Amino acid sequence: MIDPAVLLDGVTRTYGDGDAKVAALHQVSAAFPMGSFTAVMGPSGSGKSTLLQCASGLDRPQSGAVRVAGQDITRLPEKDLAVLRRDRIGVIFQTFNLVPSLTAWQNVVLPSRLARRRPDPARVRELLRRVGLGDREGHRPAQLSGGQQQRVAIARALLSRPEVLFADEPTGALDRATGHEVLELLREAVDEFGQTVVMVTHDPEAAARADAVLFLTDGRIVDLVQRPSAEQIGLRLGGRA
Ligand code: ADP
Repeated sequence: MIDPAVLLDGVTRTYGDGDAKVAALHQVSAAFPMGSFTAVMGPSGSGKSTLLQCASGLDRPQSGAVRVAGQDITRLPEKDLAVLRRDRIGVIFQTFNLVPSLTAWQNVVLPSRLARRRPDPARVRELLRRVGLGDREGHRPAQLSGGQQQRVAIARALLSRPEVLFADEPTGALDRATGHEVLELLREAVDEFGQTVVMVTHDPEAAARADAVLFLTDGRIVDLVQRPSAEQIGLRLGGRA
């Protein structure tokens, strides 16, 4: 059997102690097949962000294992994890982590430069155009709106074509047209380049672009719906389907 791109096996992540102890994730097991696009949905506080943080190696669960590209990242030494994250994982998080002194273009190419790769300028230009920043290449983060900064982060995550792309509300701060373009980019990453996308979203229409939707409640997976329509997702979120 081919390894899934990402595998969570009995992952538990708790915060706090004693009475204040919260299980953000409770014994969560899920497999994200290679070349699949999965949306993660659920009420606020259900553990979506924690799932993404654990799956991307930004956070380590107390128990259980997380395998990415065949490696158990919960047991990897920090240095090896940093290399795996740099070379094989892309993240689009709500905190954009852009370098303030660099332009949009320079921020997009920075990870590739650090990995001693030579990014193709035509591709950088194309990505910036598709996220609606074709005329903002030379702007620094402070000269861009929150939504524009997020789009720089999206272009940055897509540039190296990482095997796995984790995205936390990538369309949350965007207008409809740009949000649509970003979803197209994610869909294309999966369909044309065989990348694996795991995306947290509150938007049923965004989730309907995914191959499957994983629903979380109170740190547990409560449902997995394949090929959902926006209507099905809306009903499921309403608790009726
Ligand atoms: P979601 O992304 O679905 O809104 P989170 O993964 O952010 O949910 O949070 C899940 C639960 O874990 C919530 O009850 C939240 O309060 C708690 N939690 C998340 N991060 C922390 C933290 N750093 N410290 C304490 N509790 C946290």
